[in-house]
Amino acid sequence: MKIKNNVSLRDKHTLHCECYAETFIDIDEEDDLILLDRNFSEIYKKAFFIGEGSDILITKNSLPLVIHCNINFIKIVEEDLNKVIVSAGGGTKWDDLVDYCVNNNWWGVENLSGIPSSCAVAPIQNIGAYGAEFAEVAYRIYGYNFETHKFEIFTPNDLSFSYRKSKLQQMPEIFITKIEILLNKNPQPNLSYKDLKNKFLDKNPSLKEIRNTVLEIRDNKIPNPDKIGNAGSFFKNPICSKNELEILTKKFPDICFFQYSDDKFKISAAWLIEKAGWKGYREGDAGVSTSHSLILVNYGNATGQDILNLANKIIDSVKNIFDIKLEPEVKIL
Ligand SMILES: Cc1cc2nc3c(=O)[nH]c(=O)nc-3n(C[C@H](O)[C@H](O)[C@H](O)COP(=O)(O)OP(=O)(O)OC[C@H]3O[C@@H](n4cnc5c(N)ncnc54)[C@H](O)[C@@H]3O)c2cc1C
Repeated sequence: MKIKNNVSLRDKHTLHCECYAETFIDIDEEDDLILLDRNFSEIYKKAFFIGEGSDILITKNSLPLVIHCNINFIKIVEEDLNKVIVSAGGGTKWDDLVDYCVNNNWWGVENLSGIPSSCAVAPIQNIGAYGAEFAEVAYRIYGYNFETHKFEIFTPNDLSFSYRKSKLQQMPEIFITKIEILLNKNPQPNLSYKDLKNKFLDKNPSLKEIRNTVLEIRDNKIPNPDKIGNAGSFFKNPICSKNELEILTKKFPDICFFQYSDDKFKISAAWLIEKAGWKGYREGDAGVSTSHSLILVNYGNATGQDILNLANKIIDSVKNIFDIKLEPEVKIL
């Protein structure tokens, strides 16, 4: 375990807004959590757990205590001719795990290439992209429970995965330490996403071809947070009923939406924001990406509060025009 004081969080989250952690703790191995728990009661109530910081907006100048999972490894747990179970530490970068699996010719996570998540948070958010989501490969998730003072193991049945959701989001007492995923050794390309289907029409793409294509599509659409600070999709796509959709389509015939369930629809938040005129808008160093209107960006020295002010203006404007209330996807601290 490493404990440091007065640590800048600017490079520890992808929006890169300045903020300090009064105390920053790196958890290097599972036993560190027992030690912490023994010495500080209910530490999880005072602390913020951080992974790669790719889904957060920090609006405060400082946070009292930040705990980071720094358990990094990738290893095979079990395998037979057809399947393999791979384990990764919670601090391992998700894309390093994807790269490892693709290089070994194991199928299941290639469509999730390039997501800047930690492995710990992949199940919490049920990360998803290009027709795939974490839930499809989830095998076992390991965490430490700061209330029961015990390590716990969760199976997919325990976690009720759904779109960008899992039960872990309602369990702030759990610190995820490692994950296990179940992959296929036989080719199982998932080409359900339109761009992949078009690209590989009538072909049998290799794992590397799928990964490279996903990375290419992402590069063209999503600003690289190492170059321009951002937290991916800043807002959720609002969900509405069939009746609500009928009213909206009468008023806005070109509105962009997707079927979500039998009687629910998802309205494209990107479309709403673009139609409201915000795409490419910039106010100081806070802005809306020029390539994707769902992404708020920090061009350099925007504070978390600058980004939040811009987000609130967008929420008000979309509400005034469409009578739809956008909700942030990112966690605001
Ligand atoms: C450029 C860009 C592209 C993106 N593309 C996608 C995409 O295609 N699909 C997608 O699903 N998401 C995407 N995202 C969103 C983001 O990458 C995911 O939500 C990711 O899972 C967040 O992981 P993280 O490690 O960065 O979590 P953080 O932002 O560090 O934390 C997220 C939450 O998890 C909690 N947490 C952190 N570590 C732990 C732990 N060890 N135990 C318990 N709780 C913990 C935090 O307290 C916080 O509440 C994108 C983000 C960016 C910046």
